[in-house]
Amino acid sequence: MPRVLTIAGSDCSGGAGIQADLKTFSALGAYGMSAITALTAQNTQGVQAVSAVAPDFVRAQCESVFSDIRVDAVKCGMLANAGIIHAVADVVAQWQPAFFVLDTVMIAKGGHALLAPDAVGVLRERLLPLASIITPNLPEAAALLGEAMASSEHEMLDQADRLLQLGAQAVLMKGGHLAGTAESPDWLVTPEGRVRFVAPRMATRHTHGTGCTLSAALCALRPQRESWQQAVGDAKVWLGHALAGADRLQLGQGIGPVHH
Ligand code: PLP
Repeated sequence: MPRVLTIAGSDCSGGAGIQADLKTFSALGAYGMSAITALTAQNTQGVQAVSAVAPDFVRAQCESVFSDIRVDAVKCGMLANAGIIHAVADVVAQWQPAFFVLDTVMIAKGGHALLAPDAVGVLRERLLPLASIITPNLPEAAALLGEAMASSEHEMLDQADRLLQLGAQAVLMKGGHLAGTAESPDWLVTPEGRVRFVAPRMATRHTHGTGCTLSAALCALRPQRESWQQAVGDAKVWLGHALAGADRLQLGQGIGPVHH
């Protein structure tokens, strides 16, 4: 069983962040561990408060895990601020996990910042070059590059190429924000080539934690698959089932989570 670590924020309502990651790891046959970067008070209606963990304590959690346990893959989610990014980059550079999934989390669906805007440059300079794969949505890709958001698949591919040039080994560009398309195209771009994954848009508003769940699935599956292409394909099929089941959960009054 792969042993996998999420370095991310807590979502007390259980739909995103650490809680989504650990549920996903269990569902996909991995042993899950967690280093918590921030506590959030949130529910299906939005994020009410955030309390970031001190960077040295994020580092201490990671050191406790790495110094004792073999870690087969790591994912990063919410990193909150530049100090935490530096701590995580130091740990990843030192321990060099075989697979490092960087989910470039910036803003929650309700609009609350999960990464300080002045930390985007630090994410780009310090963590992108260490990543085995990054999973930006279109606004995140644009922020990392300091460019306008892609408005076509052609522009998505151009931006993915520029993100590779910044040092990531692979880019999964998530096209869910593309306007006016019946389907939601994602592109996996590596130096070896480009693969398009397409899924129909789901008729649910319950999409809280979708990004966390996808990057956690990649982290759990990659050690169990031969390539990113296989891991992405299987992760997306699984996420499709989770989205299809979301309406059955009936949690809260706002945007509920996907159903694992
Ligand atoms: N809360 C935490 C702790 C997260 O890590 C994330 C996403 O990465 C979110 C909330 C965002 O959730 P949503 O899917 O509602 O944007």
